Amino acid sequence: MNVVTILGSGTSTGIPILGCKCDVCNSTNPANLRLRTSVFLTTALGKNILVDTTPDLRSQLLQHKPDSIDAVIMTHDHADHTHGIDDLRPYSLYQNKDLPLYCSPETAASIRRKFDYIFSPKPVIGGGIPQLKLIEVPLGLLSIEQEDFEFFSLPHGRVHTTGFRHRSLAYLIDCHDVPIEVCERLKEMKLDWLIIDCVKPSPHDTHLGYEKTIEIIKKIQPLRAGLIHMGHEWDHDQLQLRLQRDGLLEAVPLKDRDILQYR
Ligand SMILES: [Zn+2]
Ligand SMILES: [Zn+2]
Repeated sequence: MNVVTILGSGTSTGIPILGCKCDVCNSTNPANLRLRTSVFLTTALGKNILVDTTPDLRSQLLQHKPDSIDAVIMTHDHADHTHGIDDLRPYSLYQNKDLPLYCSPETAASIRRKFDYIFSPKPVIGGGIPQLKLIEVPLGLLSIEQEDFEFFSLPHGRVHTTGFRHRSLAYLIDCHDVPIEVCERLKEMKLDWLIIDCVKPSPHDTHLGYEKTIEIIKKIQPLRAGLIHMGHEWDHDQLQLRLQRDGLLEAVPLKDRDILQYR
């Protein structure tokens, strides 16, 4: 079995939002505490693959405690998905090799610019930098650490996010739509789990809002669907009830530290 661990399930601010007085941000239900969205795959062959380096990466890895990281996949270069990149430093140091970091050419260009101290380093005095090897992924199939991945381009406002499928898991976050050909391909693959963006109850310019998320789940027809990247408009238990009321019995709101298995 392959395992995906939810390192974080929250929108870009994390939940609670600093200074916010709303009911969800002040809730005592631990299911409403959400670090920034990221997942960790441990494959049946024992490979460890991190997806995104959020600003919460250090605390996420302190909780998850992986022995090693074999590869990192970066979905897109927004602050909530990349700004923890420097916390890869200890892993590249202890493992004594360049950590491969896979992303689209668009994301690669953006993170080369933003983190130029890592990717075009001048001689460093003191400290150190994460030793990363940037690998640009094409759309379609690609083997990473002897594992077959399939990559898709998803529209996310003015930029694109890289969604992927690994065996019977698909991960589609930070997108305002999912192209019909991607839905059809994923339906064909008979997914065990679809992890999908659902930022808020109402429509959103750069993310999937509730109705759109449901529409995509119905097109893909996975065995189970897990909603992620949730904002403070969502109370965990109320979202669960709403999914049940709407007949989406295969869908659940994910929460931090959930562990899902897939073939
Ligand atoms: Zn995001
Ligand atoms: Zn984003």
